[in-house]
Amino acid sequence: FYLVDILLLAGVIALARREPYRPSARAYLVSTFPPFLIMASLTSTLVLLWDQTPFATIVLVGPLLVIAFYQRWLHGAFERLREFDRLKDEFIAVLSHELRTPLTSVYGASLTLQQKQLDEPTRESLLGIVTTESARLARLFDDALWANRLDTGRGETVIVPTDAEALTSEVVEAARTRLPEELTLELEVEAGVPLVAADPDRLRQILVNLIENAKKYSPDGGVVRVGVGPAGRYVRFLVADEGLGIPESEHGRIFEKFYRTDPNMTRGVGGTGLGLYICRELVRRMEGRIWVNSEEGRGSTFVFELPTARS
Ligand code: ADP
Repeated sequence: FYLVDILLLAGVIALARREPYRPSARAYLVSTFPPFLIMASLTSTLVLLWDQTPFATIVLVGPLLVIAFYQRWLHGAFERLREFDRLKDEFIAVLSHELRTPLTSVYGASLTLQQKQLDEPTRESLLGIVTTESARLARLFDDALWANRLDTGRGETVIVPTDAEALTSEVVEAARTRLPEELTLELEVEAGVPLVAADPDRLRQILVNLIENAKKYSPDGGVVRVGVGPAGRYVRFLVADEGLGIPESEHGRIFEKFYRTDPNMTRGVGGTGLGLYICRELVRRMEGRIWVNSEEGRGSTFVFELPTARS
């Protein structure tokens, strides 16, 4: 049965993939024969044992199943590690690229600024480039630093009753000063926002990260809405954009460390895959929760909730 099955299967796959039959049959035989042999000998041992003493067979099946599940779990963990390793390698390549882009802009702008005969508007625009690109560099370093702190358990949060409304509008005001022309930033504050139990600096960091993402992934412009309001025992924050959106299949993974969606899907927008991971970890440390509602091409809404100071 085994031989017929494998040879037929190899034939079907070789036909579908338009590969030569012999090498693929040999590859399937080599990769499936050892597990087949183990399973076959185990099964015959169990059948023989059943004839002698059914009780011993039943007792043996338990540990065998545990071993099989443990093997499966080990295999899964190993696969996850391999994927993580791949993402890490990709991250190093991405980071070098992400560092070089702002550095080149700052270098170019400062070289031009050294020329004496520049008119005032050009000077202003070059200084603007230096400021924006240096801020981008600083954010990049901050993200790398925070990801490392969170991994090594050094990202402590100091939770105090915080005025969520004042903090959110302060972040929005600051973001407005660096807004591209094609984007509008709106603040929506619901009535009766209670004090939130949060670390103000970390809360600011999460909001800045989400707003920066909303800007970055809205290459055609649109409205970015930042909202804050009460939600039972929680205070709810949201950052909504009308940008590229995220397919549902990616919703679970975008909060993973280093994970980035396919650059073709995001029209090559740069990034390191650390921002949302940091947001999730910080929200967790403040005993809150974070999620996304989004559809490809229809914008995204990132929502997070933190406990109210009273609760
Ligand atoms: P990155 O530095 O790549 O932006 P993040 O961790 O912040 O890393 O985001 C992970 C991925 O989630 C991004 O690569 C992007 O594909 C997707 N993403 C995050 N925010 C948005 C958004 N507002 N709109 C569309 N896609 C987003």
